[in-house]
Amino acid sequence: MKAEADGDDDAGAEILVSTEHLAPFPGLGRETRIKSQCTWNVAPRGGAGKRGLMRSDLDYVVPSTVEEAVALQAGSSGAVYLLGGTDLLPQMRAGRKDPGRLIDLKRIPLLREVRETEGGGLSIGAAAVMADVEIHPVVLARYPLLAECVKTVGAWPLRQRATLAGNVCNASPAADTAVALLALDATLNLVSAQGRRSIPVSAFFRGPGQTALRPGELMTDVILPAASAGFTGSYLRLSRRKGMDLATVGVLVGKRNGKLTLAARWRIALAAVAPTPLRVPDAEQVLEAKGSIAVWEAAELAVAACRPITDLRGSAEYRRDMVGVLVRRGVVGLG
Ligand SMILES: Cc1cc2nc3c(=O)[nH]c(=O)nc-3n(C[C@H](O)[C@H](O)[C@H](O)COP(=O)(O)OP(=O)(O)OC[C@H]3O[C@@H](n4cnc5c(N)ncnc54)[C@H](O)[C@@H]3O)c2cc1C
Repeated sequence: MKAEADGDDDAGAEILVSTEHLAPFPGLGRETRIKSQCTWNVAPRGGAGKRGLMRSDLDYVVPSTVEEAVALQAGSSGAVYLLGGTDLLPQMRAGRKDPGRLIDLKRIPLLREVRETEGGGLSIGAAAVMADVEIHPVVLARYPLLAECVKTVGAWPLRQRATLAGNVCNASPAADTAVALLALDATLNLVSAQGRRSIPVSAFFRGPGQTALRPGELMTDVILPAASAGFTGSYLRLSRRKGMDLATVGVLVGKRNGKLTLAARWRIALAAVAPTPLRVPDAEQVLEAKGSIAVWEAAELAVAACRPITDLRGSAEYRRDMVGVLVRRGVVGLG
């Protein structure tokens, strides 16, 4: 197949696409036998070898089970997993990632499921798109803080492709869904050729783009525990424009009422003000102990927990100031 590229980015470029139907993986489903070889004869935006150039021998595979996906990963040194591609494809296009194989997980039925667990929690499959998560009845009824955060990601069309797992695995300090998962004590289920393990989301982020994922490890689902149900609140987020922009600052303030011990009532988590999304237990504890009258103290503790940078979205000083403002606003809003 030969096609002329159009659009602003690739104006005048020619793209040659040849698709072979191979059977390199005996026993796998029909779709997994499709191997695409794409030759991109495209004038890249920044010149050859810079921004815009994608490799010509990209291998694209579509497993139908988690086991196949893990086997395909183990069999290729440059393989990465693909979900919505809303982080990965721009990174490839910008030349920041150069995988030899894309393992598309979206056709694995198990990974698309959102279902209640035996323990009364909720399992959100890695390939479940955000647009489904934010309107899921169990999310809305028991974990509305997650819906609050998901709704701020990009815009509705983006959320038809983007996933929670991708948001978390990409490990941006500004990942909006990560703050809800931190506040709700989520657990991440992982699998690799070496076996399965679970890790609390609080131990997952290591730095910008850095996670506790081991080589080849695949995230199967995110678990929201039953014990985290019932928190309500707000995710207060500043960005340069409404929609399609990462947060300059994000502050989640959650509270749970009812006959519970005081030690479980408040949640405060922050985005875009440190190398990773973070929770602020000190601020939560002061609110637990003194109630919302301690709002200024809690805000100061949240500001103290920040380690913001200055970038094109805002200065470190602005971010720090806004954390204080938004924590106070969130706490006062909850009473
Ligand atoms: C225009 C635009 C606006 C955006 N706005 C926002 C925003 O407001 N807030 C925000 O937080 N984000 C935003 N994003 C970022 C992006 O949409 C999210 O991070 C998204 O959730 C990534 O999910 P995905 O399914 O597209 O992941 P992908 O891009 O497919 O994957 C992301 C990373 O995770 C890895 N990966 C994927 N699946 C797995 C798995 N199962 N196990 C292990 N690793 C895996 C991939 O290899 C890749 O490194 C925006 C992106 C764009 C393009």
